[in-house]
Amino acid sequence: MRRNKFKIRLLIGVAIIAFAYIQRCNRQEVNPYTGKKQAISMTTDQEIAIGLQSAPQMTQQYGGLYPDERLQSYVDMVGNKLVHSSLASETPYKYDFHLLADDQTINAFALPGGQCFITYALLSKLESEEQLAGVLGHEIGHVLGKHSAERIAESDFWKTATTGATVFDMGGAAGGIGQKTLLRNGRDDELESDELGVQFMIDAGYNPEAMIGVMKILKTAAGPNRTPEFQSTHPDPENRIEKIRAAIKKYKK
Ligand SMILES: [Zn+2]
Repeated sequence: MRRNKFKIRLLIGVAIIAFAYIQRCNRQEVNPYTGKKQAISMTTDQEIAIGLQSAPQMTQQYGGLYPDERLQSYVDMVGNKLVHSSLASETPYKYDFHLLADDQTINAFALPGGQCFITYALLSKLESEEQLAGVLGHEIGHVLGKHSAERIAESDFWKTATTGATVFDMGGAAGGIGQKTLLRNGRDDELESDELGVQFMIDAGYNPEAMIGVMKILKTAAGPNRTPEFQSTHPDPENRIEKIRAAIKKYKK
């Protein structure tokens, strides 16, 4: 009797995982801007809406916007220059660049749909407009790469798959794979954004070598033991620099 119950649970578990897997395959689409095949579960309009909706909350978490409007317009100017002279201008995304007041947390990030952020702590470490273009170019890369949307689709998948795994008592195993997958994709996203950032810098007339300077600043800021959030899921800076050098060679006209 107990054995039969186990068999049924096993079958249900396998069915749920198979369902999650098939759903995920059906959602595969080719990113029109990067050519990358990815699983996305939302429309472009939804991406933009999620970004706009979450922006005020994000801003608040980092102490609000930086009060000096001149510095804010400087960030806008550099961000818009990158957008207008590159592939980013051909996308339906609504780009906004926010300078956050936080002077302790060295960070930059992008929400889906075009909302990009940099903290004052990171901005104050940068040595030139070109380096700022490097940071913002990288963030625009996350938007174009639809990385957040892909992460959201991934987590839907693992939620469904883990439900299946729990039914036949292997929750731990499936959960473990899920997290590793998220982390691995995170690293790939960072490298893709670095490469896109290099492209946007070149298109806007910035010296792409400045992106290497940004990596060095992040590495120094991290210290031997501390990892800033910007880098927590990021690949080793040395590895990133190597890939950035290759991208510069590839795109430099
Ligand atoms: Zn990043």
